[in-house]
Amino acid sequence: MLVRGYAAHSSTSPLAPFGFERRTPGAHDVQIAIDYCGICHSDIHTARNDWQNAIYPCVPGHEIVGTVMATGPAVTRFTVGDRVGVGCFVGSCRQCDRCTRDLESYCLKGPVLTYGSLEPGSTTPTHGGYSSGIVVDEHFVLRIPATLDPAAAAPLLCAGITTWSPLRHVGLSPGDSLAIVGFGGLGHMAVKLGVSLGAEVTVISRSERKAADALRMGAHDVVAVSGARSLARHADRFDVVLDTVSAVHDIDALLGCLKADGTMVLVGAPPATLDLSPFTLILRRRRLMGSLVGGLRETREMLDHCGAHGITSDIEHVNPDGINAAWDRVVSGDVRYRFVIDCRKF
Ligand code: NAP
Ligand code: ZN
Ligand code: ZN
Repeated sequence: MLVRGYAAHSSTSPLAPFGFERRTPGAHDVQIAIDYCGICHSDIHTARNDWQNAIYPCVPGHEIVGTVMATGPAVTRFTVGDRVGVGCFVGSCRQCDRCTRDLESYCLKGPVLTYGSLEPGSTTPTHGGYSSGIVVDEHFVLRIPATLDPAAAAPLLCAGITTWSPLRHVGLSPGDSLAIVGFGGLGHMAVKLGVSLGAEVTVISRSERKAADALRMGAHDVVAVSGARSLARHADRFDVVLDTVSAVHDIDALLGCLKADGTMVLVGAPPATLDLSPFTLILRRRRLMGSLVGGLRETREMLDHCGAHGITSDIEHVNPDGINAAWDRVVSGDVRYRFVIDCRKF
């Protein structure tokens, strides 16, 4: 099946129109016409080879919402016309210790990423949602709650689950003090989800520019930081710190904001190593952990929660020919708060 999309052909070239073939749907496959795809900072890290793992041409996009156009004969969960979503992975071994515990993003054989992996048993790269259509095994296809706006629901497939999963894993409870570091795509979803779980949420951002938006989304406080010293006042304040920052920054100062026995979760994935002092952890028995997206069971739980609470992303629509300009705005921190591509226009 021929589809149209946008691809990066090198780490420095802008995205350009690109036509390519999707596989013919197999027995378990769902063929999806993509309506919307969010722009995640990971798309940019990948295409610019920040993580040194890019495969070109690279068609990014893992916040996909679309409509089922056809189903293979063995498909049982979806029918033509269903509104569906695809997130960060489209395959996993389904047998390892992680997969059998609904932790597919941590598949020990490596999840098949929606873009930037190889199709299992082949040398063809997987291509993502900056395109008009995709073919995915129904096991990895999600149902989008009918009550949610489909464009604004697209970012739930990465930004939503990536922040939901660690908040649930650390057992965030009503009344806990939660700091969200970086108020972009992931950060604004983390605020909404943290507030909906009853936490006292503080946004830590580089300036006051977005403070009114953070408060509107339910944050209780906003801290503007311009360096490590400005965080010293907030030492020993938070039960949980969720760090979504996309660039190299001072995590030691942020760790110092945790209470004793508090947990800091890194989900932001800067392209270089980060420094910390062992004593910042040792002296308060603080924990530092990372988290990668979330499994399918947890994603369904998050989508149900968002459906029940009316939670979606704050989005700006963008047409395919505006993707490069949107990327520049994401990199400069000028995103309010997720760009979503109208993929019907590819
Ligand atoms: P985004 O919308 O660009 O948000 C990142 C935020 O980080 C910005 O809004 C900004 O917040 C802050 N920031 C940027 N540069 C900074 C700097 N030099 N110093 C301090 N703060 C800075 O990006 P996103 O889509 O939310 O993604 C965030 C990160 O998470 C990326 O690295 C992405 O690859 C990663 N990610 C990880 C996973 C996972 O599974 N772990 C999943 C998705 C994305 P302020 O303007 O408020 O300061
Ligand atoms: Zn993402
Ligand atoms: Zn596995």
